[in-house]
Amino acid sequence: MTDQKDENARLNEEHKIRMQKTQAEVRERVKAAQEERGTLIVLTGDGKGKSTSGFGTVARAVGYDMSTAVVQFVKGTWPCGERDLLKKLGVPFHVMGTGFTWDTQDREKDIAAAREAWKTCAEHLQNPDLHLLLMDELTYMLNYGYLDTDEVLSALQARPVNQTVVITGRGAQQSLIDIADTVSEVKPLKHAFEAGIKARKGVDW
Ligand code: ATP
Ligand code: MG
Repeated sequence: MTDQKDENARLNEEHKIRMQKTQAEVRERVKAAQEERGTLIVLTGDGKGKSTSGFGTVARAVGYDMSTAVVQFVKGTWPCGERDLLKKLGVPFHVMGTGFTWDTQDREKDIAAAREAWKTCAEHLQNPDLHLLLMDELTYMLNYGYLDTDEVLSALQARPVNQTVVITGRGAQQSLIDIADTVSEVKPLKHAFEAGIKARKGVDW
């Protein structure tokens, strides 16, 4: 019994020392981060969670009554719970025109719709009062060559210093990763869909 008590006391002491060390390291790093500015966040990879993370960040900002906007580079008729919520809250929300057609592969129409949506992004990227801009699924537009990568990168770099931008989508281009401040790659370990489970309203869209 006494042996067990001693062992517990030793484990407790070890744990305390480890936690104190971690705390000191974290405090050191927090102190070192002194720069205050908006960031460019890229959420990429093949796993689930990119758009939900982007919208989660929008929800954070909205919670503080900060000015936010969303531009979604997907077909306008796709359902999306976040869109319905944010529109109700008065968040400017542009969805790429319904001309965008994965189905008919009408490239000219797709390009026109992508450029139209990009025009809205370009305006937001010049607005010093905008705290956060989410460009959901933008990476595909760059990968398909629907938008000019240099033009997009230049606009991102010229944006107001306090504006944060979140970009989601698979296969983020290296040039985009290079100019980003935070890049997360969501890696799929498992996905329910592969086990034959249908995508669910309120979970997957
Ligand atoms: P979410 O919107 O759920 O955060 P996402 O933005 O990371 O997903 P997308 O590539 O935009 O992923 O996915 C579009 C749709 O496909 C969403 O409904 C998403 O839940 C689903 N999905 C995401 N990853 C996978 C996967 N690895 N396998 C099957 N379906 C997926
Ligand atoms: Mg997505």
